[in-house]
Amino acid sequence: MAVAVLGGGSGAVGTSAHAACQRYRGTDPLVTGLTRRKLAAELKFPDVAGGIPQARWTRAMTFERLVRDERFASQVATTTLGQLDLARPPAVVIADADGDMDRTATLVADAHARAIDDGSATVIHDLSVPFIGHEDADATDVRPDFVVVGPKAPHEGGGTWVIVGDAKDYERVRSRVEDGRLLKGFLQVAVGAESLAAWSLVPDGMDVHRWGVLVVPKNSFLQPEAVVEDLTDHRSEIAMRVEERLAEAAAYPFDPITTPIDEFVGHLRATYDPVSCSSCTLFGYCRDELERSTDPTDLLIELGVPVEVRPRVVGLVDGTGESGTAPSSVAAMIAATQTGRPVDTGQRRIDPVGLAGTVDVVVAKSDAAALGLHGIATRRVTAAGPTEWSYVHFDEPQSSSTRLSVMKVLGKEISSAMADARRSNADAPDPVHVVVPDKITADVLASIADNLAGVELSRLRWQRDIDEGRPALTFDGEPASVPAPLSETARTAVSFLLEEDRARALTLRAPVVDLRATLARHVVAGGPSVNSGRLDYLVGWADADDPIDHRVFGKKIERSPHTPGARLANGTSDEIHKALTGHRGKGAADQVRYASLVRDELEYKTAVFERAVAALAEIETSNLRDAYRSIEGDAQAVWRRRLSLHASDLVRFGRVYRTWRNGLVETIEKDDRCASQLLALTNPQEAFDRAVDAGNRELVFATVVEATPEIVLEVNSRRLVDGDRVVLLHVNDRNCAEGPDVEVKTSQKGAFKISGLSIGPLEAVDPDDPARRAAFAWLPSRPPLVAVGDRLIVADFAWFSTLKGNKDLSVDKPTPDDQQAPKPETNKSDGCGPSSYDADPEGHKFCCKSHEHNEAEWSDELAARRSRGEMNPQAWPPVRNADGFDVAAKGSPVGDPFDGPGEDAPDGLTIDDVE
Ligand code: SF4
Ligand SMILES: [Zn+2]
Repeated sequence: MAVAVLGGGSGAVGTSAHAACQRYRGTDPLVTGLTRRKLAAELKFPDVAGGIPQARWTRAMTFERLVRDERFASQVATTTLGQLDLARPPAVVIADADGDMDRTATLVADAHARAIDDGSATVIHDLSVPFIGHEDADATDVRPDFVVVGPKAPHEGGGTWVIVGDAKDYERVRSRVEDGRLLKGFLQVAVGAESLAAWSLVPDGMDVHRWGVLVVPKNSFLQPEAVVEDLTDHRSEIAMRVEERLAEAAAYPFDPITTPIDEFVGHLRATYDPVSCSSCTLFGYCRDELERSTDPTDLLIELGVPVEVRPRVVGLVDGTGESGTAPSSVAAMIAATQTGRPVDTGQRRIDPVGLAGTVDVVVAKSDAAALGLHGIATRRVTAAGPTEWSYVHFDEPQSSSTRLSVMKVLGKEISSAMADARRSNADAPDPVHVVVPDKITADVLASIADNLAGVELSRLRWQRDIDEGRPALTFDGEPASVPAPLSETARTAVSFLLEEDRARALTLRAPVVDLRATLARHVVAGGPSVNSGRLDYLVGWADADDPIDHRVFGKKIERSPHTPGARLANGTSDEIHKALTGHRGKGAADQVRYASLVRDELEYKTAVFERAVAALAEIETSNLRDAYRSIEGDAQAVWRRRLSLHASDLVRFGRVYRTWRNGLVETIEKDDRCASQLLALTNPQEAFDRAVDAGNRELVFATVVEATPEIVLEVNSRRLVDGDRVVLLHVNDRNCAEGPDVEVKTSQKGAFKISGLSIGPLEAVDPDDPARRAAFAWLPSRPPLVAVGDRLIVADFAWFSTLKGNKDLSVDKPTPDDQQAPKPETNKSDGCGPSSYDADPEGHKFCCKSHEHNEAEWSDELAARRSRGEMNPQAWPPVRNADGFDVAAKGSPVGDPFDGPGEDAPDGLTIDDVE
């Protein structure tokens, strides 16, 4: 009997994010006879987080319908065959097996015969195949979304290939699908491929192809695109997991007559992690088990302390109080948990939040569309303080007009902030920033910008076609619907967000500031650190009057109908989606209710935002804040030149030219080095953790063993030797760089100069005495106030600079990335202005050549290739478009999850099945 239940309905057992957990594997619906959600309810911990929002499910269904659309199905077939170097089929036949095994066998045999007969390709949707090697058992089936059947190439011998595929409506973030998602998708394809390969009804002469195909949305209209990948490794992994599962099912059979379900589940070993488990239906049950545990070390599991760190911090929870070399961030989280009070990291503020020139933004994202927004609220901070929030809701969340409105709203604020900055200092205006409550808000905005940049670049090419009297065609040769030009206001926002996208490779840049991460730099909350991933949770700790019970507060935040960031709580997502589109069989759309729900949601976000800004205002400002700001300021000066001349200001990060990308390597290295140096100076926790780390060479612990007449240090490193100079960074909890006498000069080109620190050489006290080998007299030019027993963190001076004197510390400033950027106009001889390129195209081709010029050239090139028959649909194998499509061909089917009432997801499925 145990063998019969091995199938695992969707094959999820081999591919789920929770597959590493024995309890998860052992509670497969086919073992327990209950869906995962029912099981959670039986165990008295009904699943709240793992459900699929209606809007999300509707999107999945919309995508599935598009994949089955004849036009896309045959496109998927031909691109798949083309990518695998197979012949162009004379015809593509589409068939549907309706999830029926007999029908699948018949259709597969027909497809094989057809391919042999006349070379036709066949796409079969919704197949049913016996689970790997369990054809005769009463196992459930595996359901590949589709397969493509076609003849083998002549050199591969006779017969046919069957290529297995799945369709997944994965979101594109900044035009890319995350690797982790693709991996999971291909594992699922591999389950289908393994099962099909083992099935006796596959005709002789038909083989399962080594490669599989995943169909994902290529654009915001959910139009499908095929991605192929070698499945060899995925298939062996699946085979291994199935084996493992076999052994396990035999070892832990479930018999409901003799064993109560809670006892059965309780005996399965849990591999709990507060991050990944939150999408498992048993999350509540497993967490409760830990909360009730009397073993103090279970608290570490509950808090999500990584396995390898637990032995180092166990002393903090088992009553012995020993902390050893615990990373200070983990020790702080444990201390906050135990006391109910937030722990201060000791870092002072380096961020621009609340300063003039910042634009505060919150959004409510729709679950039905990757780039869809229900609403946005913005305000701008001026010299006179913040303006009122302005709230906007969108009746068509996924439409391109909504995306344009969002960029217009943002562009207007950013332009005003830039104008203000120019008024205060025309020569070197302060940088401007967009401040958001979480990373997802930044991702959504950047993805929208990326999308609109793609649209605008396509438009420039088509404009050239029209100017030259050519038809405007998509990459695949279909008539294009040419969009309107991007306005300068919207372009400012699009370009700013793309700048942010490239700047993400650099630690020290922050055109867009994540408010949550900013607050987390100063405040450590108790409870699992994943909880602090929500701004409302973190703020709750930062501004609490009374101690907090992390469990009670964590659950309160979980139950909140609202969220501080872009994504909505499931319940609110459903309410809003229903109000917008109506609900199947239960009611019609209600625009008034929709607007009011969106407003409520946005008001929660702005309220949390304001509390976070207020909490930050309580924290002192670092002596080094201007240093940080000057790096961003220099970089934005380059960006402004790009923007004003339309020169490489719309380049998406994924499309940065190779030479530019290679040139960035050095910029990234310098940025990285400067970032660690500034961090060592400003953040005591980081400095501590680096000094503890044996792999670090620059920061070292030292203890004061004599304070007078001269300072003698016992240095905790063999790397520092007689004559090495060190700079004192931290004394116990005191941060030297933040002292009242410290001055930071940012005006110098190339480096910051920090005066007021203690710098000097070490002198071995008694080099011949092995017992005193670590003792050094220290002779700083500026003696610090220290006492015997003080614990210091000192840095190797040579890490910072080669300055000879012991007065100042200099920190090299990273040079801004000015590749492919116009040169300043003040530089008379070769500076760039609006007419420089036209006057001297050769001399200015790598600086101020505009997108208009570039795209016109590319348009001409594509037209020439088209006339030579080198473009789709003439070319075989089909030419892939590296740019992606953000404009749908005229009349091509598009997916609109808002078109009609939403559908509830089947109860048996969880978010893990669609993500
Ligand atoms: S919540 Fe985590 S530990 Fe519990 S069954 Fe699910 S994956 Fe395993
Ligand atoms: Zn130029």
